[in-house]
Amino acid sequence: MTNIHGIDATGLEFVATAAEIAAEIREEAVEVDKDAKFPARSLAMLAERGFFGLCIPADAGGQAQPPGVFAAVVEQLARACPSTAMIYVMHVSASRTFVASQTLADRASLLRDVAAGKHLTTLAFSERGSRSQFWAPVSQFEQDGNGGFVTSASKSWVTSANHADSYVSSAQKPGAASPLESTLYVARRGASGMKVTDSFDGLGLRGNDSAPVEITDLGVAAGELLTPQGDGAAMMLEVVLPWFSVGTAAMAHGICLAAVNATKTHLSGTGFEHDGSKLRDLPNLRARLAKMSCRTEQSRALLGFTAQAMLAPNEQTPLYVLQSRMSALEAAIDVTDLAMKACGGAAFSRHLGVEQMFRDARAGWVMAPTVDHLQEFVGRALTGMPLF
Ligand SMILES: Cc1cc2nc3c(=O)[nH]c(=O)nc-3n(C[C@H](O)[C@H](O)[C@H](O)COP(=O)(O)OP(=O)(O)OC[C@H]3O[C@@H](n4cnc5c(N)ncnc54)[C@H](O)[C@@H]3O)c2cc1C
Repeated sequence: MTNIHGIDATGLEFVATAAEIAAEIREEAVEVDKDAKFPARSLAMLAERGFFGLCIPADAGGQAQPPGVFAAVVEQLARACPSTAMIYVMHVSASRTFVASQTLADRASLLRDVAAGKHLTTLAFSERGSRSQFWAPVSQFEQDGNGGFVTSASKSWVTSANHADSYVSSAQKPGAASPLESTLYVARRGASGMKVTDSFDGLGLRGNDSAPVEITDLGVAAGELLTPQGDGAAMMLEVVLPWFSVGTAAMAHGICLAAVNATKTHLSGTGFEHDGSKLRDLPNLRARLAKMSCRTEQSRALLGFTAQAMLAPNEQTPLYVLQSRMSALEAAIDVTDLAMKACGGAAFSRHLGVEQMFRDARAGWVMAPTVDHLQEFVGRALTGMPLF
């Protein structure tokens, strides 16, 4: 496959290993979807083969790979099991806050554990009260009188809720004048005051275990803060958003590539017995496949460009990051819709796997920043307005 992400030889080895893992998990992905089962085996493989620390600096024990390698790895995983890809994207995006943190007391040991595949993390931004507007948590910190803090929150969707070792969470700083005055902190799963209150039974990405978590009077020591009080929004926008956008765009592209491949195979291998023609002999179906491929490659090219721009960012780079996520999410919706139409009833039934791609593709659109938010952010940036 063309090296659109501009990856060097070391990075390509990671991509090749990810492709091997994808081949091993493809069959189980059907069960993951059918039973809404957490893909524990794929995660164990990723942990064992060094992928938990893929984007962690070498001096912290990681593999120090850039966004382009992350994208290409996620794309491979999503071609086989989008739930695995999603869990992995959340892990890498959350672990980047550990890298960036200057306040986390056990930063070095936590990063070493992540890099060694011993610690899975995730994001817990969405709250019942803030819904998709992740930049405005309604939960709040209060001082505990001993230099630490206490908070309660209804986190509405936490990927890997029952499996992650920690959640990168958000709350307003004590006495905040606006929800934008937020702080990020690490909440450890199983800590007193943390409870997963339901399970995930969604339309798509059914194995991602994105369940609600109730946080009640959780004590948070100053050393568990990932940012100084009030600096959370900056970390969300400058650290989490770029990695999350690249990862989720790549996930959408993996689904697109899988849909193109399944459609190509179906049109070439299936036909009408009465005249011996194949589905590929119908020009309207060939045109749909051509549109699917073109849309996929346009969006992949934009992400490839963006991932390389992120290595030497300028003032335009954040706009490319947002546009890459927007382009990929819309491409995934269009491409999987075309695949359903091109493959007909065979796609509507489960055996081609296309209906799962169609469902999985829809999750990205509603995850914050949603396509609505992205359109608003990009439109504001282009017209010189502040994001909020
Ligand atoms: C599979 C999956 C996994 C997830 N995992 C996580 C996770 O690990 N961590 C986490 O924090 N969250 C996670 N989420 C939550 C996600 O990021 C969103 O918060 C959630 O999907 C929002 O749903 P809602 O019904 O609350 O949306 P609402 O906020 O009610 O939005 C409803 C509609 O209004 C639109 N809308 C909202 N605000 C605006 C606006 N300002 N301008 C224009 N339109 C707007 C939205 O685009 C949407 O179409 C996950 C979601 C899914 C589907």
